[in-house]
Amino acid sequence: MIKQPTLTNELVELDKKHFIHPTSSIKEQQANGPAIIFKEGKGVYLTDVNGQTYIEGMASLWNVNIGYGRKELAQAAQEQMEKLAFSSCFATFSNEPAIRLAEKIAQITPGDLNAVFFTSGGSESNDTAYKLVRHYWKLKGLPNKSKIISRQKAYHGVAVGATSATGIEGFQNMTSSLAPDFLHVDPFSTEAVRAIIEQEGADQIAAFIAEPIQGAGGVNIPSNEYFQEIRQICDEHNILLIADEVITGFGRTGKMFACEHWNVVPDVMLIAKGVTSGYIPLGGVVIREKLHKEFIELSEGTLLHGFTYSGHPTSCAVGLRNIQIIEEENLVENSRKMGEELHKQLKSLQSELPVIGEVRSLGLIGALEIVKNQKTNERFPTKVSALVVSEARKRGLILRTVTFNEADTIVFAPPLIINKQEIEKVFEILRASIIEVT
Ligand code: PLP
Repeated sequence: MIKQPTLTNELVELDKKHFIHPTSSIKEQQANGPAIIFKEGKGVYLTDVNGQTYIEGMASLWNVNIGYGRKELAQAAQEQMEKLAFSSCFATFSNEPAIRLAEKIAQITPGDLNAVFFTSGGSESNDTAYKLVRHYWKLKGLPNKSKIISRQKAYHGVAVGATSATGIEGFQNMTSSLAPDFLHVDPFSTEAVRAIIEQEGADQIAAFIAEPIQGAGGVNIPSNEYFQEIRQICDEHNILLIADEVITGFGRTGKMFACEHWNVVPDVMLIAKGVTSGYIPLGGVVIREKLHKEFIELSEGTLLHGFTYSGHPTSCAVGLRNIQIIEEENLVENSRKMGEELHKQLKSLQSELPVIGEVRSLGLIGALEIVKNQKTNERFPTKVSALVVSEARKRGLILRTVTFNEADTIVFAPPLIINKQEIEKVFEILRASIIEVT
């Protein structure tokens, strides 16, 4: 008699046969199938198809800011879908959720960042920004201002432009060619930025792009002076400053946007992820009023750039409700407060376990490094962070390693609704997992 496959076995086989996973090892997927098939989420907890629950230390991909299972967002989507699920915003068409969300974003972003071009996610926001800044200089009669300065270890997504700006080699090496005119500098040195401007000539450079805190590159937090100095350098040389707040926006760092920590207003801000807490795809490019006015003044004919889903009414309705929840529940303040808790836990783990090297965090984004010797920072011969993450998973905690940097790093970005007891639980499991593995 043929045995009926269980639901899980059937799903594993179908996954292997038909589903190409993003940012995955295709070989490993064929050998082992998916590690977890998630089924449900509530608050900071996830449940898989076998009924095992996990506490979420990463808000999925740094994005489920208001936590899982929020009926309000489901309701916002349902109401909008029943009314008008989709209508195009090309040319002169518009819709109310897109208009209202654009106004809301203008209101909560710093300074005069007041006009939004909507996309479906972070990579599209990046590619849009590179085209817009180049278009801007072209309109100003300076078409040679086209190079984009980015940073080593940066992650900006996987569209062709976004990959070109990304400063992590693995992503860059995936294909034989990428977009030209992207330059990568040391991520911590403003001198390196000055030097490359000197070398290339400011008249060749359109923009400088940076994540306020590098996420996928290892949660790299800049010095307090870095962005103020970058703002100054950009102003001195007539170079536009693009802040990629795809991870850091919408409360992640304990401010609504991370550039507020340093009182810096970029010319262009990129958003995605937390704008809908991942409930539905949406991204955007927010530009300063001054730039918007210049576009209005200088542009002629049609701006030949637009995605089918730019200004998607259902995505925008969900985004609006999501921001309302962030505001009503003071989640930016909770991120700041719980961020202090997270930092305390990181520090106490560091003083307790000799295998913890550097720890760093701001709000609810953080990282710890595993070392063989805390004093010399010597590392284990092979990386152990992946083993720790895998052990933690068995014990019901989701975390992530950063495989592309040289350090042995574990990163944290829990949902912004997390409380003290839940942070303690994250660290209890993490502590046990590190002890088990090292
Ligand atoms: N920018 C940053 C800083 C990111 O972290 C990411 C994704 O992780 C992106 C851009 C790309 O966003 P998406 O994956 O939505 O295209």
